[in-house]
Order: sequence, then C-alpha cells, then structure tokens
Amino acid sequence: MSGRRRKKKAASAESEARVLTMHATVKAELKERPGVYHMISPEGEIIYVGKSKKLRTRLMGYFRAEYPAEKGARILREAAEVKWEYLPSEFEALLEELRLIKRWRPRFNVMMKRDARHHAFIKMSRGSAPKLAVARSAGTDDTGVYFGPFHGAHQLEDALRELNDVLGLRDCRNDMPMHFSDQVEFPEVPPRTPGCIRFEIGKCLGPCVAATTVAEYRDRFGLARKFLEGTYEAPLASLRAAMEASSDQLEFERAAQLRDKLQRLEGLRDQFARLRFAVESLSFVYTVPGRGDDNRSYVVRRGRVRAVLPAPSTTDQHAELTARAVQVFGSTERNATTVPAHEVDELLILSSWFRKFPAELERTVPAAHFLAPQPA
Ligand code: SF4
Repeated sequence: MSGRRRKKKAASAESEARVLTMHATVKAELKERPGVYHMISPEGEIIYVGKSKKLRTRLMGYFRAEYPAEKGARILREAAEVKWEYLPSEFEALLEELRLIKRWRPRFNVMMKRDARHHAFIKMSRGSAPKLAVARSAGTDDTGVYFGPFHGAHQLEDALRELNDVLGLRDCRNDMPMHFSDQVEFPEVPPRTPGCIRFEIGKCLGPCVAATTVAEYRDRFGLARKFLEGTYEAPLASLRAAMEASSDQLEFERAAQLRDKLQRLEGLRDQFARLRFAVESLSFVYTVPGRGDDNRSYVVRRGRVRAVLPAPSTTDQHAELTARAVQVFGSTERNATTVPAHEVDELLILSSWFRKFPAELERTVPAAHFLAPQPA
C-alpha cells in the first residue's frame, strides 16, 4: 500500500472513531427539546450550526445518513464534536441559529446558502448618476440601498432593463466616467458616442456625454423609485397607450413586444407591492409559549425582531411590554421596501415562519393596538 493510501485510510479510521464517539454522546445525553446545535472540527472551528424543535431526533438523523454525499454525512466526516443549547421554543431556536450563523459564518452554512441561490435583490446605487441593478445577495457595503428579496434574478434583470429604457437611466458599469452638462469641471465636450448605443437610440439620458444635467438625471431616478413604490404610473400608462396605438394600426408584432414590456414592468411593480405588504404586515407583538414557563414576547416591526421580553403575567410586566412596543412602533422609519442588508435574513426567516405556520398569527397583537390611545 502506498504512503498516500495508508494516510487516507488512517484519516478515515480516525473520522469513523470520532463519529462513533459523537453518536454515543448524543444518544446518551441529548434530550428531545428545542434548541440549537453546532458541529466543531478537530481544529476547533465551528463548521455548522443548526436548530430544531426536537434536537435529539434531528441529531440522531445525522448518524443515519446512508450516502456519503448526504449533507449529514459530509458534515459528520469533518466534525469532531457536537455541542447544543436548549431553548424555550422552536421560534427562539430559529432566531438563535441566525445569530450564531451571523457571528461565526460556519462554512457548511455559508456553502449551503450559496447553493440555494433562490432570491435576488435590486441595488440602488448612490452618487450623482445612480443606477438600478440586480444583486444576488444584499451586500453589506455602503454603496447603495438594497430592495428585496425577490424571486427570479433573470426576470428582475429583464424588468429593470425595461424600466431603465422607459426612464432613460443608465445601466453601464459603475466606474463609467460621467459628464453632466452642468458640471463646470468638464469644460471639454466629451465624445458623443461613448461606445454605448443607448444614448443614440434614446434609451438613456446620456449622463456620460453631457446630454443631461445632474438635476434632470436625479429627477428621472426619483421617478424610478416612485414607480417601484407604486406611486408613479406613467411608465405603464405610456406603454399601454403605445401598445393600443400599435394594435389600432395593425402592427401586431410591435403591439406584442410592447405587451411583453408592459407585463415585465407590471410584474416588477407587483413584486414590490408584495414585498411592501409582507414587510408591513409583519409588525406586531408575538407571544410564544416556551418550555418551563419561559414564555417570551417578541416585538416585531417590519419583519425584524426589535425587542424580546418575558411574556407579561403581572401588571408591571404588561406596562413594560406596552412601553417597549410603543417605543418600537412609534419611531419613524425609512421606506418599507428598504431593508438593511444585515436584516434581510431575519425578514426572510420571519416571513417564511408565518407562511409555514399561519395559525401562529393568532398569537400576535397588531402594532396599531399599542399606538391607539390607551384608556385612562
Ligand atoms: S449612454 Fe452612457 S450613461 Fe447611458 S448607459 Fe450608455 S454608457 Fe452609460
């Protein structure tokens, strides 16, 4: 047997021994309760964090993985130790799992999230010539505002193209030099053909060739934002009018193209409307019964947990929760569709929780209840 094969065999035997030890520990010690668990490598690196309503069942499932490619088997092969923490409820475990993943960024969690690739975001960049672009994830940078999450990156790209065309917004690379007509620092007239046909065919205002002012471009960009917020209908109305005119003139091919454009824009606006609704409807106090009377009240605003307090059972506790809720719900916040990047995961988790368990909404008290004048 070659040296390399001998080493591989020894490593595999070590891994098997570690798995047997972990199995024995879980079997002997772990209780069937909600909580979080994490897998640790021989070097002490936290490689995976998970949660479950039934920790014992979940972890015992890892040891039953039949195929080496299964997620459980892959994680176990690299783990040397498993640790867990009991929590009062599955909901608390869900939130704790998210906190731990954010803190440690375990490589198996990151890898699996990357594999999922199920949503996309729209990034609104900053600067004098901002643009809208599709992003695969909500970045943590300061260079723009992210909207989302949305399904279907390709559909989003198509829809944004239509919106950019209708409003004359740029879609070129971020570092493209801009030359506004009212910028005195560019006295020389820039070339009229920047290597991009969009200006020539009237699809872009041309901030790169001094064909527009900073204010005009900013106004158009503002209209794009208003369109996404559902308060500016003109792009849809003009497409609809053009489609009807083409149809009246028996230009059916053109009318069909315009109909497709219209549908893409309507789809984009509807996605924003759904997002706004999801975010706005997730504003309440949610009380979750927990094991051992560890009942907790979560003050949720726009899909993110802003405060956690013991579920009130005394007058003082009721007053404390009400005061906290009034503070959270009463504060002014930015637009509903603008979710800070670091809060997107929590919004996703909360909205999928209430979609999966709609009956849980019966445990919620809407934000409006706390903002209404309280009886004297
Ligand atoms: S015309 Fe200029 S600003 Fe507009 S998309 Fe093309 S390169 Fe960008």
